[in-house]
Amino acid sequence: MLTRPAIGVVLAVAFSSALTGQNLAPADLVLSNARILTIDDRFATANALAIRDGRFVAVGSNDDVRRYIGAKTHVIDGRGRTVIPGLIDTHVHALGVAEAETTQPFKNLRSIRELQEWIRGELPRRAKEAWIWTPRVFPTRLREHRFPTRAELDAAAPEHPVVVDGAYAFVLNTAALRAAGITRDAADPPGGAIVKDAAGEPTGLLRNVDRLLARFRPPPPKVPLEALENVHRQYLAAGITSIIERGATVDGYHTYDALRRADRLRLRATVTIRIPRADDAGEIERFIAGLPFRFGSGDDWLKVGPLKIVADGGILIGTSFMRQPYGLAASELYAVHDPAYRGFLTLTPPQIAAAFAIGHRHGWQMVAHVTGDAGVDVVLDAIEAAQRGQPAADRRHTVIHGYFVDKNTAARAARLGVLVDTQPAWYYKDADALSPALGRERLAHFIGLRTWRNAGVNVAINTDHMFGLDPDDAMNPFNPFLTIYAASTRRTESGKVVSGAETISRREALQMMTRAAATLSFDEASRGSIEPGKLADFVVLDDDPLTCSEERLRRLRPRMTVIAGRISFQQGE
Ligand SMILES: [Zn+2]
Repeated sequence: MLTRPAIGVVLAVAFSSALTGQNLAPADLVLSNARILTIDDRFATANALAIRDGRFVAVGSNDDVRRYIGAKTHVIDGRGRTVIPGLIDTHVHALGVAEAETTQPFKNLRSIRELQEWIRGELPRRAKEAWIWTPRVFPTRLREHRFPTRAELDAAAPEHPVVVDGAYAFVLNTAALRAAGITRDAADPPGGAIVKDAAGEPTGLLRNVDRLLARFRPPPPKVPLEALENVHRQYLAAGITSIIERGATVDGYHTYDALRRADRLRLRATVTIRIPRADDAGEIERFIAGLPFRFGSGDDWLKVGPLKIVADGGILIGTSFMRQPYGLAASELYAVHDPAYRGFLTLTPPQIAAAFAIGHRHGWQMVAHVTGDAGVDVVLDAIEAAQRGQPAADRRHTVIHGYFVDKNTAARAARLGVLVDTQPAWYYKDADALSPALGRERLAHFIGLRTWRNAGVNVAINTDHMFGLDPDDAMNPFNPFLTIYAASTRRTESGKVVSGAETISRREALQMMTRAAATLSFDEASRGSIEPGKLADFVVLDDDPLTCSEERLRRLRPRMTVIAGRISFQQGE
């Protein structure tokens, strides 16, 4: 319904254009009496806009736009409200959210006690040999600021195998270790670790061992279209009109395509395809050459995006690959006791270089999940080598996360034309736990938006939404105004500011979720600002996000979201 305009509409517009002259054809929709932040080159404001055939045809004063009102034009009185371009969340996992909500609706567990209670609640529903996978938890977001211990899990589940899912790290109870055959004699898998105590016994904590546990995971369900559609509805209600799905399979792309064919794709999606873990270049080459589509194929609603690899782990669980050791202050948070520990690469540098070189050669934009500073060095090496092998302008290879930045790294990224996709709300959620563990100096530049910007790197801020449907309580919160709040205040959840050195202005933050975000998917000519010719996606707000109070900013909710000139969300619905 919200996808292609019906053929009849197209013909009607063409017909009336022929009758009345090109500029005076009546608009489908006019919004007037508003305060429109166009986010154009000059950051100009306007009072009215007109839309025809899904695109803005006029933006200006009420007088400028009035002449576009015809007999059939839908006219909306903006009543002085603020209007911004549709927000672009360049990093979400809507497919994963839909899949998880289908099997086990997300519950935000805030402490080890809540985790234990959740596990106890599951026991009566499960056979004794059935594995229990908890909702995703990160030690930085548990009240205790540490992983649960094996003993704490045993206390909750003495018999059922339990896995606490921390993405790139897991904690197993005794029954799970036994069922998986992980004993004191077990060797670390390549690139991963089975953590053992001083007596040589597995503590239950496993880092980067995805393959080891794969066979105990329940097979992923087929994502019902209504579940994905429902996630998208939550985005529209939050003001998000375009997303980049950041790590789908080819099947995931087909789910989007099915949604589109059913006329139920309600927002614009670019789908990133993850390259499956490959041991050698030949495997990567075969995967890429065998893909059923090319980079960028699609249209304004659904497009094939870049290819993604995962280069290292995560900073919420202490597996980011760092230049300097984590240090003993981090031992409690991450259960790390080796003073030389620097985290992990999940692929070797030659594997990372091979993926970039092959993708680059086949014409793909390449993106890498890489959180630690030493990991970013390896990815930039790979991009530099790929460019040297086959120089090509404007490929927009992208560093995803890149949490620890310094001037030299930022300058190097700028020189290589590399873009950054990063998540300020993680600073808000996690810096309270990370600061004592990693030190104030490292935290001062954690998600260093100012450093990237000063070097001239194009940065998109986004949410990395993975689980749950509540904009503020999801893992991770997908309320875009919380992201803008965190970027512009550098306040943590407890209200502290570790250092204001990386603070950016609200204007810059808004720009990073609109104009700058559009460049990640090569869409800057059609999205990211309210200008004639661009796609008619915008959001109506009760307050001005540039001037309202900080408290108000992070709680802003759209009154109305319009996409392709059609109202797709309205408060009170
Ligand atoms: Zn992600």
